[in-house]
Amino acid sequence: MDTPIRNVVIIGSGCAGHTAAIYAARANLNPLVLEGHEPGGQLSITTLVENFPGFPEGIQGPELIENMKKQAARFGADYQMAHVVSADFTKRPFVLNLGSTQLLTRTLIIASGASARCLGLPGEQALIGHGVSSCATCDGFFFGGKEITVIGGGDSAMEEALFLTRFASKVMIIHRRDSFRASKIMLDRARQHSKIEFLLDTVVDDVYDVQKKEVTGLRLRSLKTGAQWDFPTSAMFLGIGHEPNAKWTNGQLDSDIDGYLITKNYVFTKIPGVFACGDVQDRRYRQAISAAGTGCMAAMEVEKFLEEEGR
Ligand code: NAP
Repeated sequence: MDTPIRNVVIIGSGCAGHTAAIYAARANLNPLVLEGHEPGGQLSITTLVENFPGFPEGIQGPELIENMKKQAARFGADYQMAHVVSADFTKRPFVLNLGSTQLLTRTLIIASGASARCLGLPGEQALIGHGVSSCATCDGFFFGGKEITVIGGGDSAMEEALFLTRFASKVMIIHRRDSFRASKIMLDRARQHSKIEFLLDTVVDDVYDVQKKEVTGLRLRSLKTGAQWDFPTSAMFLGIGHEPNAKWTNGQLDSDIDGYLITKNYVFTKIPGVFACGDVQDRRYRQAISAAGTGCMAAMEVEKFLEEEGR
């Protein structure tokens, strides 16, 4: 049997992907959304979102993303739990390799987002899920009454630290500089919290104890003096930013030095019919609302592209 050809496949189910799906579905294109490794993207692992317009009291990230999915599904978007291993953009329809199956599509919207970055420490990978985490919302509960650590100096680190104060007896924020990328409001909240302390100009050289399969401490180093010391802690939460999920495009699209896809006029990649939106192509704004905006643009360009092809 011939593999059916989709009008549009959307890779990723974060804010950009769902918004693209809402617009493409309302244009009667019956989009297929591949939900990816982290369904719902970064909003699904955040807490209160206070800056998405339309919610004066804020809204929980998972609720916001679930609402977007329901909205897209209501207009006829299909969802599939799958992720793309590789793709062939050299021929039309484009071929998406999902591992055991393939998909064919006339157009593609890449909304595969960005994933939490790791420090690359010797003990880090072995302790993920045993005290090393990038998701305070998912894992904070396990550290009731414990002294724990958050790494980073941006909004993610402040947000994680503030959330973790619900459980932990003390949260130490360790940051490699003495100035912050975090917004003033988030930084002030963290600074004013009685359970939060800061350790600045300091980096983590290792996390242990891999043998015990639990985090018992960190090996720290001062960037000012070079001094190293052991710092007892029950968990290390990473809030050090994200990496774009675009490796699977395998060099077929232009990307910058950190792997973010390069687009022109917001959402156009160099391949006609392949569009990119959201955090996978946006290293500057990286907001839910800007991801939603480019998701909308990508779907509208798909509609125009197919129309010009006479479909
Ligand atoms: P970010 O702003 O890029 O901050 C990453 C932090 O991690 C920086 O302080 C950076 O240090 C540090 N870092 C990176 N690599 C490191 C390494 N290898 N070792 C030690 N430290 C390292 O990322 P983000 O905090 O994830 O925020 C991303 C975007 O999302 C921002 O636009 C932010 O405003 C937004 N956001 C908003 C909210 C909210 O409004 N509720 C919540 C979360 C995120 P340096 O400063 O030294 O580079």
